[in-house]
Amino acid sequence: MTTPVCLPCPFCGSTCQLVSNLDGDPDLRIWWAECLDEDKCGASTAPATTREEAAAIWNKRTSVPAN
Ligand SMILES: [Zn+2]
Repeated sequence: MTTPVCLPCPFCGSTCQLVSNLDGDPDLRIWWAECLDEDKCGASTAPATTREEAAAIWNKRTSVPAN
């Protein structure tokens, strides 16, 4: 099993990271990808149910900038 990776931000080129809410019920755990350049960009994906899905959403560039 390979670890999913997210491509550089489609909006600003910064590194992205995959994040989850590790607290709480595992059945309710969500994953999302976000741009690490939050001050200037703030792009992120909608919540996904798996790390793989979050990466896939990001890599399809379906995310939109926060502003
Ligand atoms: Zn960005």
